[in-house]
Amino acid sequence: MKLKVGDTVKIVAGKDKGREGKVEMVLPKTSSVVVPEVNMYKKHVKGQQGQKGGMYDLPRPLNVAKVALICPNCKKQTRVGFKMEKDAKVRVCSKCKKQIWIV
Ligand SMILES: [Zn+2]
Repeated sequence: MKLKVGDTVKIVAGKDKGREGKVEMVLPKTSSVVVPEVNMYKKHVKGQQGQKGGMYDLPRPLNVAKVALICPNCKKQTRVGFKMEKDAKVRVCSKCKKQIWIV
């Protein structure tokens, strides 16, 4: 996965296009990420023992194709590249070529 938890991303497609947020969860199986307050939907939850039922707003996973990484170095919307550094694969920004660290 090119994206990691804590990355700042911009939504580039769908109803929340243009919004920014931090990746909260990465789902490699479906190539999607969860960003709080983005792609929200209402879920009706039945009450169970000890738990109140009702309507909940939950973020729905977004496909990675619908988000773009915001580089923490140059603050631009960018693509993620990879390079080898001391036998470890590190992520680099395709615009400023700097390594992408999660702040
Ligand atoms: Zn950059």
